[in-house]
Amino acid sequence: MADQSEKKSMDEIMALCKRRGFIFQASEIYGGINGFWDYGPLGAQLKKNLKDAWWQDTVLTPPPGPDGRPLQIVGLDSCIIQNPRVWVASGHVGGFNDPMIDCRESKRRYRADHLFSIALADGANTRAYAFVDGDDEGKARALKLLGKYAKRTLSESDVTVTPLAKATPDQLAITVGPDAKEPGTLTEPRAFNLMFKTYVGATASEDDAAYLRPETAQGIFVNFKNVIDTTRVKLPFGIAQMGKAFRNEVTPRNFTFRSREFEQMEIEFFCAPGKTAEWYRFWRDLRLAWWRATGLRSDNLMLREHERDELAHYAKDGAGTSDVEYRFPFTHPGFGELEGIADRSDFDLKQHWSHSKVKLEYFDADTQERYVPHVIEPSAGADRGVLALLCEAYTKDPSRPSKVFMKFTPRMSPLKAAVFPLVAKEGMPETAEKLHQELKPRFGMVEFDVKQTIGKRYARMDEAGCPYCFTIDGDTAKDQSVTVRERDTCAQERIGLDRVTEYLAERLKS
Ligand code: ATP
Repeated sequence: MADQSEKKSMDEIMALCKRRGFIFQASEIYGGINGFWDYGPLGAQLKKNLKDAWWQDTVLTPPPGPDGRPLQIVGLDSCIIQNPRVWVASGHVGGFNDPMIDCRESKRRYRADHLFSIALADGANTRAYAFVDGDDEGKARALKLLGKYAKRTLSESDVTVTPLAKATPDQLAITVGPDAKEPGTLTEPRAFNLMFKTYVGATASEDDAAYLRPETAQGIFVNFKNVIDTTRVKLPFGIAQMGKAFRNEVTPRNFTFRSREFEQMEIEFFCAPGKTAEWYRFWRDLRLAWWRATGLRSDNLMLREHERDELAHYAKDGAGTSDVEYRFPFTHPGFGELEGIADRSDFDLKQHWSHSKVKLEYFDADTQERYVPHVIEPSAGADRGVLALLCEAYTKDPSRPSKVFMKFTPRMSPLKAAVFPLVAKEGMPETAEKLHQELKPRFGMVEFDVKQTIGKRYARMDEAGCPYCFTIDGDTAKDQSVTVRERDTCAQERIGLDRVTEYLAERLKS
């Protein structure tokens, strides 16, 4: 386990993201819009690298299944707006409602499962102070206020922390909200629809109401029949899709972690009813290993198996649900969800069958049986993935001018190399530009930079996470060699100009 000293500052990471063009506030010149983020040049490439890796490793070249046979996964790209009946069948209309707690005093609204309260452990429960899960300052403030109320200095061992999701009216009556001064201003948890509503067509009547999808998964279920009718897939097989999802989150927070527009990477893996346990274990382990391979260190990554009472109603009797979680600076020392792997049983296909009246079953030619397949769903967030990559890569190093560098793996790194002419004269820019043009088609994003001192250029590239910088200097014209500087060690060596491509190809392989 990494200790507290390793905790990185989210403010510093966010500042670097803006400074180097990874992530900007959406509509920044208009003051931004809460819960929406834009990816800049480096961020867009980083996110694309993560999504490309997912598509490559999931759809194009998946590993063999638990039986050693090739995995069958096909891709899909369905619409963001579907017939609204899709969301009735899925349970999102009238159902996709995380219960909310409102504060009558501060007018703030909180997700009920995110609110906790602190009260005295010795039973003198006449007052409790609420805080939002993950808000360390808010928790410390609640502890301090309780101490003031009890007229003694309190430590964590003097208090109990209780979730407010199932709080009784009596409990709420003595609880002071996270942004309130008086007790008893928090409402009981109430349903709140997180889907964004829109209107299809010009008239905008309620008959034309539609929703922006809150998950990509339902687009897969409604295309199940199309896929089996048009391809040669046989059970077990998966359908994978990535794309935007929208949730009108009540309290967007923690940078991109909880935003209102985000991207998901989802697989619905269909299998015979009796095979779910085996496939659940397979996907759970594979997805954890995949995230690790993107560069997330093992002690910052964990798999959390859900307790039975946490499971969705349709999953209670199934193989289980687990989350791949990452230790973000704002969850430290706790963890936040990157991906959920769930046994969804035959719930979704049965729902769509019943609502659409279209048979969604599978005919097994080997056993001559007809049945509704069961589903294992690995559902990941691309934005949370990018955020984890950024947090993981952020590495302090007081000895270098930038004081920090981004230690991406070669596969994830948005920039693969940089080419610098030492000075903008004596033919150096021309040689450098020639090398730059040679590298770009082969490796992708390669920077060319002539401005400022070489030290400042290295510092910029360290913050961008560029793994290799090649400098053309006065000697290049004489001996056809360049200086290569490696990001992680700052080590420099001289190599032949004609060896640069081979040198990079060798090192970017892993
Ligand atoms: P949470 O409990 O954190 O709200 P969830 O369990 O509702 O997440 P799922 O419905 O399982 O999330 O969605 C699958 C994945 O989509 C999550 O693991 C996460 O990576 C991503 N995701 C969900 N909501 C958001 C959001 N508001 N912002 C960014 N990513 C999200």
